[in-house]
Amino acid sequence: LRKEIRRLESNKFIADAMLGSLARKLRILGFDTKYHRSGSDHELEEIAINEGRVMLTSDRILWKKSHDELIPVLLITGKNDRERLIRLLEQASANSITLKQNEARCAVCNGELLKVRKEMLKNKLPDELLEKHRLYFTCKDCGKVYWRGRHWSRLRRLFIILNSKRI
Ligand SMILES: [Zn+2]
Repeated sequence: LRKEIRRLESNKFIADAMLGSLARKLRILGFDTKYHRSGSDHELEEIAINEGRVMLTSDRILWKKSHDELIPVLLITGKNDRERLIRLLEQASANSITLKQNEARCAVCNGELLKVRKEMLKNKLPDELLEKHRLYFTCKDCGKVYWRGRHWSRLRRLFIILNSKRI
């Protein structure tokens, strides 16, 4: 087995069908994450190679196969997403992959989020909600509206904590 010695910096993933909820969290955390809901393992590998994405899989056999083919791949196991995130950080560091966080993306479709003026959301969101936050975002692709609510902040804080424990 040849050893990969180069360091890889990545903010792009492709998650296998078992990792849908982790994929949504990774998008909020600011990682460009495709979700391979259906399709063959071969297609999954092709997308990873062509788009420079790190593969995330919970399938040990697929992980071994892709790893032997020198495709950047992380084996993600765990009972819940917290455990999976820890695993992701451990695996990334064991494989010399530096994770680079960017702006949050759409949890639903992985689209880029754009800041929107509150006035633009007047008939989309109730006034009480619009009072609550300063910044709102919409997905460039599907139009879903986001704000930095409790769920969002909690998740980003958790990631910072998990990440700092690793160093
Ligand atoms: Zn979207």
